[in-house]
Amino acid sequence: MNLVLMGLPGAGKGTQAERLVEEYKVPHISTGDMFRAAIKEETELGLEAKSFMDKGELVPDEVTIGIVRERLGKNDCEKGFLLDGFPRTVAQAEALENILADMNRKLDYVINIKVDQDILMERLTGRRICKNCGATYHLVFNPPAKEGVCDKCGGELYQRDDDNEETVGNRLEVNLKQSQPLLDFYEKKGYLRDIDGQQDINKVFADIKELLGGFGK
Ligand code: AMP
Repeated sequence: MNLVLMGLPGAGKGTQAERLVEEYKVPHISTGDMFRAAIKEETELGLEAKSFMDKGELVPDEVTIGIVRERLGKNDCEKGFLLDGFPRTVAQAEALENILADMNRKLDYVINIKVDQDILMERLTGRRICKNCGATYHLVFNPPAKEGVCDKCGGELYQRDDDNEETVGNRLEVNLKQSQPLLDFYEKKGYLRDIDGQQDINKVFADIKELLGGFGK
């Protein structure tokens, strides 16, 4: 089962990726995670990626495509994979087609978890974090028992600087602009499947499972 998972920040991609990996036993390949691991290990790749990530820019295609090609060649990808955060550009999407063709394989689906922008805004700006222990809450979806106070340790709750409306709005805008050409690319190829991400987490997962049918079972 060869999958790409797409969705704007706050759409619930991380949660669904975790469940998919558990259910279908395919490796979760997140280029962001791979870069962060390389930075931690201070490898050459990490050093290069860091200079771009620190500026909020994309790591150059040739670097990113290279690590994905290498990763997809590993044994644990034989039964399939779940790509997350890749492709981010049409050039990367075209490269992925070539990588898979070289392996006599192709994508099965590109799963796009769709959530309206105003709901994403509510999800992302409602986050609150404990100054003391780091526990996270949400004003609407997971509120603390007492406003502004951590249930676990009594610490003061605060909003991260980058969770304010303006910054979140920019982040969504940039992501939307980046992802649209990719969605168009995959729509034309016939791989794209929209999933309604505004439902309960379990229902979102049930819809994805229904789409995937008996794959890998
Ligand atoms: P993420 O965790 O997916 O948000 O990625 C964090 C950062 O890693 C991004 O802001 C980029 O700098 C870099 N990155 C992750 N995936 C890619 C990709 N497919 N192409 C280029 N840069 C990427």
